[in-house]
Amino acid sequence: MKTYPVTKNQDLTVDIIDLTHEGMGIAKVEGYPLFIENALPGETVEVHVLKVGNKFGFAKVKNFIKKSAHRVENADEKLIRTGIAPLAHLSYDQQLIFKQEQVANVMKKVAKMPEVPVLPTIGMTDPTGYRNKAQIPVRRVENQLQTGFYRKNSHDLVPIEHFYIQDPAIDTAIIQIRDILRRFHVKPYNEETNEGFLRHLIIRKGHYTGEMMVVFVTRKEKFFQVDQILAQITQALPNVVTIVQNINEDKTNVILGKQEKVLFGPGYINDQLLGKTYHISAKSFYQVNTLQAEKLYQTAYDFAQLSPEDIIIDAYSGIGTIGLSVADKVKQVYGMEVVEEAVQDAIANAKLNGFTNTTYVAGSAEKVMAQWAKEGIQPDVIFVDPPRKGLTPSFIEASCQMNPQKIVYISCSPATMARDLVHFAALGYQAQQVQPVDLFPMTNHVECVVWMSRKDK
Ligand code: SAH
Repeated sequence: MKTYPVTKNQDLTVDIIDLTHEGMGIAKVEGYPLFIENALPGETVEVHVLKVGNKFGFAKVKNFIKKSAHRVENADEKLIRTGIAPLAHLSYDQQLIFKQEQVANVMKKVAKMPEVPVLPTIGMTDPTGYRNKAQIPVRRVENQLQTGFYRKNSHDLVPIEHFYIQDPAIDTAIIQIRDILRRFHVKPYNEETNEGFLRHLIIRKGHYTGEMMVVFVTRKEKFFQVDQILAQITQALPNVVTIVQNINEDKTNVILGKQEKVLFGPGYINDQLLGKTYHISAKSFYQVNTLQAEKLYQTAYDFAQLSPEDIIIDAYSGIGTIGLSVADKVKQVYGMEVVEEAVQDAIANAKLNGFTNTTYVAGSAEKVMAQWAKEGIQPDVIFVDPPRKGLTPSFIEASCQMNPQKIVYISCSPATMARDLVHFAALGYQAQQVQPVDLFPMTNHVECVVWMSRKDK
């Protein structure tokens, strides 16, 4: 049997040398890594070993012997434990450095482009209370309907009232809705048995408009006493302009089901971004940090240097925010997006802002891009903003085939972005600069923008 330098339940003292990308402290015992929650580089900690795996183990802090100068005292441990704010114990300026280093690291190790500058992370003046959306599981805890968040790597609900990184008006709304649901004896969902009614509560709030949307994700369609419940919610929360029921009967981790019913209002909220107005429906993606999304997009436009004769493509367009923010500064905008409702929003949003120079297509980015390349569309700038898994080789090939002057890549996953930059470079598009923007303060998520130009230019 293989032996390890530590054993389960052992207590020992270690020095923390680094942070994992998830924000856990790393200590090494004779070369064997131990991952420790709520421990920072530079700290000396007495730990208790929880788990010993093949390549690494986990331990928890028992006692701090030496603390880091960058530690934020009194960070709520629940926020770290649930993963809501896994960096809440690290000072904000260090969080920004941590994120810049992560991007620089993948640019070096994955993209093998150490020469491409990675600029200092653009942060927030107030890095709390920024989320405009909450997605909260509803479960029974100690015989009561509870709202909160799962303990990391588990499905145990930890009741939480103050989410810290969420708009405080959303925290208040969750508590008020929870209390109304309790009064009406609404049954929380039970994951193990796939019984009960209410699975998740989703709340969205327009950052500039204050308009709120409430989404009940339920297991069944039949919603007992729905009229009385809606009446109480709209009375208690006058900013709620729409309430939607999403039905998900499956035993699954996926939050939203296919079927949707608008219970109250128009089924969408309005918000503004960079001075344009947007409809946002329940199923549409919308950046959760409005102020930072504005900085992110502004960085992308600064990199693109658009001119009035430009044709642009907004790939993975969601409700159209990236293209529509500059539709009055360019000749033509093309966008594509796989979620049908989001495409409908983008079309409505173009109209709402008075644009007639936009085309939105529903479909997978890979297919639509190949089609557009075949049709001979010649964009000057292509903006891409894919989900975490990044781009596919066929999408990258179609983009380069269109021969744009610039490609601006917005990424929520630096590792897949770095992988894709290698492919772009092989096809003649070289990364020039990377700008991390902190869209998710207090969490380990890193967002960045990189621009590429043709090598012959
Ligand atoms: N640019 C938008 C949305 C970015 S999020 C904004 O800034 O708000 C990424 C978007 O890609 C989501 O709307 C998601 O629905 C969409 N998407 C995911 N996979 C896709 C695919 N294969 N093809 C097209 N769109 C996809």
